[in-house]
Amino acid sequence: MIEVKNLIKEFSSDNGTVRAIDDVSFKVNKGEIYGIIGLSGAGKSTLVRCINRLEEPSGGDIQINGKSIIGINDNELLEERREIGMIFQSFNLFMQKTVYENIAYPMEITKKPKEEIHNRVLELLDFIDLRDKERSYPSELSGGQKQRVAIARAIALNPKILLSDEGTSALDPANTQSVLQLLRKVVKEYQMTIIMITHQMEVAKDICDRIAVMEKGKIVEENTTDELFKSPKARMTRSFIQNVAEEDLEEGIIAADFKGDVYRLSYGENNAHKPLLSKCIRTFDMELNIIAGNIHHIPSKKIGYLIIEMLGEAEEKEKALNFLKENGVTVEVL
Ligand code: ADP
Repeated sequence: MIEVKNLIKEFSSDNGTVRAIDDVSFKVNKGEIYGIIGLSGAGKSTLVRCINRLEEPSGGDIQINGKSIIGINDNELLEERREIGMIFQSFNLFMQKTVYENIAYPMEITKKPKEEIHNRVLELLDFIDLRDKERSYPSELSGGQKQRVAIARAIALNPKILLSDEGTSALDPANTQSVLQLLRKVVKEYQMTIIMITHQMEVAKDICDRIAVMEKGKIVEENTTDELFKSPKARMTRSFIQNVAEEDLEEGIIAADFKGDVYRLSYGENNAHKPLLSKCIRTFDMELNIIAGNIHHIPSKKIGYLIIEMLGEAEEKEKALNFLKENGVTVEVL
């Protein structure tokens, strides 16, 4: 469906040349949700901007359904672009237009008949479950609702491909879920193919069939989501997965029913080596269980954490927590 071959994109400036995409190749199948994950500056946006030709690649090829989109004339490019919808972190809706007008816009500029436009807008309003907001302006909507309108607008012309550039990054967890649910529905009901770029591994884990991990303009690892989580190979992948694992662990701990109070203690380089917890147990009249933890011996400010349960009198626990805080430990209640 989409095949990217040996793609290169360089930017020239007074300070020299930056190679934002460095010999990247991958294939995405029809109906697949393909995630591209990486830290800021890894080259993700540049890559998707090459796919819809908002950026001109410096080398390599991009084929959609076996047809190269490089070196085609302006008219052909315009046609190809209609096959690719895109959504952004900042929604990019027209603020002076209503929800209805935003969704109708791509059909108006391609001069579709009025009745067809009207019917399609109503169909899409139902599809995104915002029929009651057709006369509202974007400023009257939540972030999740705005992104749902942006999705309706992006798929109005029934493209084959939907590109999402950090489409959920500005949303809270509930709105993120509503947008992810809608994206799944886009694939299921309209058989679209989605490429999602994100720095949020938990989002990629939730929705993507396969994930490519980018670092410094290269794909350092690619696999099905399950396999990637089961046996991550690249260092960058492991660090992304560790963050998700820690969040999952904390969610599990919050959901679990502990008898005592549960805290997350974050250690820095000045206190990680001190026997602060054993001193707590000896000095104060309380019990302490270590539930989980991870301390790295690397020279950075916060080098690790412990999740502990404290049992005992409130006053003694308070003293112990103050002792930890006085020694530079950050204490959070879970
Ligand atoms: P990401 O989306 O992963 O955050 P980007 O694709 O935005 O990464 O950027 C990748 C690299 O390309 C960065 O080093 C960035 O500074 C550089 N870059 C992106 N766009 C331009 C541009 N228009 N001119 C010069 N450098 C750019």
